[in-house]
Amino acid sequence: LGLSRMNLCPNCQQPYAPATKFCAECGARVQPPSAHDATPSTASLPFPVGAQIALGRYTLEAVLGQGGMGTVYRARDESLERRCALKVLNAELTSHPTARKRMEREARALARIDHPNVLRVGNIFLEGELLVMELEYMEGGDLQGQVGPQGMPAGRAVALMQGILSGLQALHDAQLVHRDIKPENVLLNAQGVPKLSDLGVARDDADTGRTRTRLGAVLGTLAYMSPEQVQGSTVDTRSDIYACGNLLYHLLTGGLPF
Ligand code: AMP
Repeated sequence: LGLSRMNLCPNCQQPYAPATKFCAECGARVQPPSAHDATPSTASLPFPVGAQIALGRYTLEAVLGQGGMGTVYRARDESLERRCALKVLNAELTSHPTARKRMEREARALARIDHPNVLRVGNIFLEGELLVMELEYMEGGDLQGQVGPQGMPAGRAVALMQGILSGLQALHDAQLVHRDIKPENVLLNAQGVPKLSDLGVARDDADTGRTRTRLGAVLGTLAYMSPEQVQGSTVDTRSDIYACGNLLYHLLTGGLPF
């Protein structure tokens, strides 16, 4: 009876005491089961939780995250009877040509890649005035939530980096530069397998243009960027590898080198 009521760490499955933030066993962040499903009370959502969109194909079950660019829902695909994530671009951004192009570019970039460490895209469509992208649902949330103040065990960090670098190789093989490698852009599935996401600023390597300012960019992103990207110079696959160095440092220590 006690066991059935115990909270288990999503990473190592060891029980953790109520009100702890990090697992004593493996250092992963542990959250009460309800936290992931919580609906923001203040923010106005593009669609209410419980709504059905795309002629009843998807039912919106919960809000997974809200950022400058839009809202991500956990949804149920009623036709295929499976869970998925739906990313809805903010209303004011859907009419913004750059933002809309960026999301369409992200969908096309993801659609070109078939790799276990790169997030799969299912569809992109307009629901009324709003642009919606269907993505593979990642139960484990993003990697930032797994890094404790002291980092994580080296073995786990190395295993994660192997997956991340393998996914990155697939992008680079397809002549894509991710340009925004950071813990928030690595999502984990139920088995803890990492997948690269958020290719909104990814660019063809052949396109050697200068860095563009990213709508809704946060300062945290800069912490992982290569000097040439921060300075707005030409960026290629080497910038992603530089960012992965910073990411590995973060996984191992919980901090940042610079
Ligand atoms: P984003 O706007 O892409 O940064 O996403 C905001 C948050 O939503 C992320 O930090 C994740 O926690 C969550 N999220 C985004 N995409 C997915 C997905 N495919 N599966 C599960 N959670 C996701």
